[in-house]
Amino acid sequence: MKDLFKEIYLSYGVNYFSDDCVLKNIIDYFDFNVDNEMHNLGNYVSTELIEGLDYIDHYAKPELQTWSITGKRIDYVRLSPHHREMLSKLQNFGIIRNSIKNDKISLINHFLSGYVISDSGIFCTFTLTEQTLYGLFKYGSEQLKAQYLNKFIDVKNPWYGATFYSELQGGSDIGNNNTLAVPTDGHYTLNGRDKYFASDAGIADASIVTAKTDLKQNGAKYISVYFVPAYFNDTLNYNIRRLKNKMGTVAVPTGEVEMNNSIGYILGDIKNGIYIAMEILTISRIDDAIAATGIARKALWEAYKYANIREAFGKKLIKHPLMRRDFIENEINLEAATILSFAAASSFEKSINSKPPYDDSYNYARILSHISKNMASSTANYITEYAMEMMGGIGFFEEFPMAKFHRDSIVTSIWEGTSNIQAIDAMESLFKKDTLEMLMNDMANKKKGFDEEISSIMDNSLEIIKGKINNMRKNNPEFYAKELLNDIGKLMAGVYLLDAGLSTNNEHFIKSGKLYFYINYGNRDYYDLIEDSDAIINWMNAE
Ligand SMILES: Cc1cc2nc3c(=O)[nH]c(=O)nc-3n(C[C@H](O)[C@H](O)[C@H](O)COP(=O)(O)OP(=O)(O)OC[C@H]3O[C@@H](n4cnc5c(N)ncnc54)[C@H](O)[C@@H]3O)c2cc1C
Repeated sequence: MKDLFKEIYLSYGVNYFSDDCVLKNIIDYFDFNVDNEMHNLGNYVSTELIEGLDYIDHYAKPELQTWSITGKRIDYVRLSPHHREMLSKLQNFGIIRNSIKNDKISLINHFLSGYVISDSGIFCTFTLTEQTLYGLFKYGSEQLKAQYLNKFIDVKNPWYGATFYSELQGGSDIGNNNTLAVPTDGHYTLNGRDKYFASDAGIADASIVTAKTDLKQNGAKYISVYFVPAYFNDTLNYNIRRLKNKMGTVAVPTGEVEMNNSIGYILGDIKNGIYIAMEILTISRIDDAIAATGIARKALWEAYKYANIREAFGKKLIKHPLMRRDFIENEINLEAATILSFAAASSFEKSINSKPPYDDSYNYARILSHISKNMASSTANYITEYAMEMMGGIGFFEEFPMAKFHRDSIVTSIWEGTSNIQAIDAMESLFKKDTLEMLMNDMANKKKGFDEEISSIMDNSLEIIKGKINNMRKNNPEFYAKELLNDIGKLMAGVYLLDAGLSTNNEHFIKSGKLYFYINYGNRDYYDLIEDSDAIINWMNAE
């Protein structure tokens, strides 16, 4: 039987890790220590995995079966056998278990795998599992860790995790949680019917759940965090009411979950609940940013391949000046968003031992997570949409990959906190944790190597940002919050891109870093530079 999948997916078979020259440059810049398995992961993702995920997306979504044949409540989320096999093959690349070695945790290879896999559905399962493992590792009691930690890093049958924070009446407004946790004989008993967006429900063997010990108290500071196994003594420990019908992220089931006298174990000091919840959320915010850029990369790669085949007006699409400009501009903006997202990952890794009340390293990672999630998700939304247009009518059809890329990208600006919430959280960090000064110092240090032209663009932009900040302090800060987050993200991404080029002497990033400033700050005709920049995109010719 012939496998014709590559006839509908042009970038089938490129290695999403090894053939990605931008990722390679980013790894050099941050000096990441890369697992040997990453090359094999790239190969697997661009062949079997994309085909399997495409199939799940169109024909084999997870389904909930509530009752067993003997009338027992089972809340079984049925995955296609192929879906189960894909999860287990991905586990074999060590995405989760390699993050713990010699009693230390490291997330860099997990973050890298997020870029390579990127699919918002299946990678969500790995994000949630990594978060659960991280929460347990860092904040579980010794007894809890002894009982559960090894299960997540088991080679044969590893456990999966989930984070049930959002409720019907409040996702952004987490302080409005309505789940009650009552201390009971060395654990807590949780009750609440409204965990309304519970991804990985049915896959997760244990979840991190937010609750309050007093429902009369409203506000984030009353939140505490619990480790809740899906089964207790072989009995369901919480229920899944139904699964959602979603426009994307199909390969992860998202359900409505009810805590029914569910047994949970507190993570960390109860007073620090909201901080711990947010720290765990910072991982998924960074994952989200990285995966968003990974999706956009796949979309741009696909469109680029198409433009090298499709002809209009007697020549290949890629030979038309306006198309080349489209590709180069999108490429550069994507590179900038990608490097900014990995800057957040790199910072988080440096802060990995920090605990409440936290040191500056964590505060910096957190502000970078807000900036990069906001920037990467909007860049991915735009690029997946425009890559569709670059393929003309073909881009719009569900039978080809672009529609799925776009549908999967849209959620990246919604979950883990919408862009407005990133902006509001960022304000708190900028003004109360003094991360504004850290950001300014980081940029000023990097600027030292820049030429006069770019330095002056930067100075102007910094002046505008400072002016806005002064204005914000006087007027309603929330009104201006996202404008500020966008401005900082736009500038920082360029600064990181150019700095990566200059500090590693990498011609590609030097060129794209400079072009980034000309394209986005528009004070120079950059036609001559674009004309000479085909190499910036030609690496996507890899077979
Ligand atoms: C596919 C999917 C899977 C998900 N999986 C999970 C999961 O596994 N676990 C989990 O805990 N959650 C999950 N979520 C929930 C997700 O994190 C929330 O939906 C999201 O954080 C937004 O919260 P909300 O839906 O309550 O929106 P709301 O809070 O009602 O927000 C609605 C709008 O109001 C805006 N808004 C709200 N407050 C403010 C404010 N103060 N200032 C300005 N604007 C504001 C928001 O930006 C948004 O545009 C998932 C969501 C989706 C779509």
